[in-house]
Amino acid sequence: MASFVNNMFLMDENEWLDEAGAPAPAELDPFVEAESPAGEGETSLALPDVIGILPIRNTVAYPGTIIPLAVGRERSKTLLAEAEPNATVIGLLTQRDPEIDKPGFDDLYSVGTTASVLKLIKMPQGSFNIFVHGIARFRIVKRVASEPYLRARIKVLSVKTRMTKQLQALMVSVRQTANRVVALSPNVPEEASVLLENIEEPSALADYLAANLSMDVSEKQALLEELDPVKRLERISVVLAHQLEVLELSHKIQGRVRESIDKSQREYFLQEQLKAIQSELGQQDVRSEELKELRQNIAKARMPKKVETEALRELDRLSKIPAASPEYSVIRTYLDWVCELPWSIQTEDRLEINKAERILNRDHYDLVKVKKRILEFLAVRKLNPKGKSPILCFIGPPGVGKTSLGKSIARSMGRKFVRISLGGIRDEADIRGHRRTYIGALPGRILQELRKCRSRNPVFMLDELDKIGADFRGDPASALLEVLDPEQNNSFSDHYLDQPFDLSAVMFIGTANYTGPIPPALFDRMEVIELPGYTEPEKVSIAKRYLIPRQLKEHGLKKTQLNIKDEAIHAIIRSYTREAGVRNLERHIAAVCRAVATKVARASIRRATVGAKHLADILGPVQHESELALRTGIPGVATALAYTPVGGELLFIESAAMPGKGHLQLTGQIGDVMKESAQAAFSVVKANAKTLDIDESQFGKSDYHVHVPAGAIPKDGPSAGVAMFTSLVSLLLKKPVRPDVAMTGEITLRGLVLPIGGLKEKVLAAKQAGIKTVILPARNKKDIPDIPEEAKKGMEFALVKNTQEVLKIALDVN
Ligand code: ADP
Repeated sequence: MASFVNNMFLMDENEWLDEAGAPAPAELDPFVEAESPAGEGETSLALPDVIGILPIRNTVAYPGTIIPLAVGRERSKTLLAEAEPNATVIGLLTQRDPEIDKPGFDDLYSVGTTASVLKLIKMPQGSFNIFVHGIARFRIVKRVASEPYLRARIKVLSVKTRMTKQLQALMVSVRQTANRVVALSPNVPEEASVLLENIEEPSALADYLAANLSMDVSEKQALLEELDPVKRLERISVVLAHQLEVLELSHKIQGRVRESIDKSQREYFLQEQLKAIQSELGQQDVRSEELKELRQNIAKARMPKKVETEALRELDRLSKIPAASPEYSVIRTYLDWVCELPWSIQTEDRLEINKAERILNRDHYDLVKVKKRILEFLAVRKLNPKGKSPILCFIGPPGVGKTSLGKSIARSMGRKFVRISLGGIRDEADIRGHRRTYIGALPGRILQELRKCRSRNPVFMLDELDKIGADFRGDPASALLEVLDPEQNNSFSDHYLDQPFDLSAVMFIGTANYTGPIPPALFDRMEVIELPGYTEPEKVSIAKRYLIPRQLKEHGLKKTQLNIKDEAIHAIIRSYTREAGVRNLERHIAAVCRAVATKVARASIRRATVGAKHLADILGPVQHESELALRTGIPGVATALAYTPVGGELLFIESAAMPGKGHLQLTGQIGDVMKESAQAAFSVVKANAKTLDIDESQFGKSDYHVHVPAGAIPKDGPSAGVAMFTSLVSLLLKKPVRPDVAMTGEITLRGLVLPIGGLKEKVLAAKQAGIKTVILPARNKKDIPDIPEEAKKGMEFALVKNTQEVLKIALDVN
């Protein structure tokens, strides 16, 4: 059996225990092997009956183990002074209370270990450092003396072991656990495992482990007092298991700690390297300057706390990324965006109704109803600024002043004005932006415009609401709904920004040519203000008061330098433009100004007066001739009034007959509804042939063709029914329609005339084309007061209930 060394587990190898428990100076190698390994009770030394007792504290000595001790107490020194190395046997007893300096027998446990003194070193101060080798357990039988040192009669306690399978199994398991403890204990040499394997005696194994495990002294003492090695091993196995658990746990924790230290050290190291490289390249200053500036910008933007926290987090990320990385520019762009949004920049509202009225009047001619509604709107806003005002939506053909009204509203309120056109937008991302994960992602149009105008409360015009599309990329209308909904738009979410933005201070105004195609959910949220087209005299007034002065100014001409005569303005309106608004009119006036300006600049003239006769020279040949005279006058042509996106329009409906079998053919880009109304008209003609004096036999021999010219423009709607009917009757009776008559109305199979929409625009177009009589459904009578007086002047309105009445007027038949 190997002799083994104490303090191997969980204590520093070189730690000396003195008999007072304090470490002794490390002079001796504790890995001293006893020359002759001794088991319990086996000793070659003579054991006297009465032996000297050396009290020790804080530790328990076990048989078979060697412990170093520092001896300093008087009685102990006296005992050792008489001792002879390798000859003297002493008794080691542990103190119950380590504090007592001069312990009596009562202060010591009564069971201890006999030991031989292996080595004795005298220290300069008179103390000793000794090595003792435990021999056997003993019990005090009689206390013999206390002075000069404790002496007692003892009885060696013998330990008998019977090797059973159970005990073997127990030893194997204890050894295994102990080996693992050794492996996990950083300060225990590997030889400890070898020793473990070599101890075959159960009692010796238990003592070896008891000596080396960290336990309370009382527990150690209990193990010493337990004579049955099986019980001792069992207790030790519990302690070992606990120890192993603790070790494994601490090992795990250490592993984790090391890992995180390694990682952060690695990062730190790389950062430092990066800094070094950057400073070598001279980038560091630029970089830190840039970061500093960004930090200032974030503070300056005065964004909501949550957004700011996020921005600072991104900034922190940015500071750790090399400038060359693609992510750097992504974060950089994002931060620039966030900083430049007008989180808290806004203009002060000026809500003076009188001033607003002045501005609206100064910028726009007439539009009395519209202006009144706008002023009401502003007044309510003034009285209840926090209230949810409706979203205005201007409906009307192009060039009637929708945009310029929006601008005037902005000006009168002292707000900025922005405008986006929604025409052709099909992707939700146009409104809401793309997520930052996409390359080249940007915020949506709403935030882009707000950034540009640098105000969070502009007048924001959403043009062409009727032209929004939707496809697989999502429905932009649904995003717009969120924009326009006062309940939701205080936290509008843009995909790019990924933070809510408050749009509630923005004043949205929509515009559209038609109400029809506007998505119903959007339409519901808005209050419609209609701006129908202008009559010719209105256009002349607008031209004289607004368009000409503006164009003169833009072309650097003085009022005195160019005089455009009224007749010229009329001629431009009639022959060069065909529109409900005044956009083309303004363009042509600009062309006139350009021509004159060139001449003035060449100094060939000083001033000019432009009359109708000069227009051909300046604007080229007439673009729109009155078609009335050209088209009508032949049987089979009737003039219909249509309503198109650019206002009212005249349509000449032509019918022709050719040999055939009574089929009806339709051409001219017409939609299903119009086709059906042509079929209906044809049926009404056939059904009433007799009353109409039409030769019925013709129907079997001929095919009929109804054409609606201007074939490139798609046309649809039922309102040309009356005109189609009239055209067919005119053809069959070979009687031309009155050239100064235009008509509109839907017909039923029974020959009734049903009401239609867009009457005002239609009448304006009729007036402009020189029509004298308009045939319209009787039930549209209520719309007549809406038609401007100018347009009504010299115009006759024939209100009809059925086709009979139509023919009476159009063909003069009875
Ligand atoms: P829309 O937005 O309806 O298409 P705009 O607002 O662009 O039309 O108007 C076109 C031009 O016509 C603008 O220069 C505008 O000033 C002018 N205009 C339109 N209506 C009027 C009006 N009632 N008075 C003065 N100018 C007008």
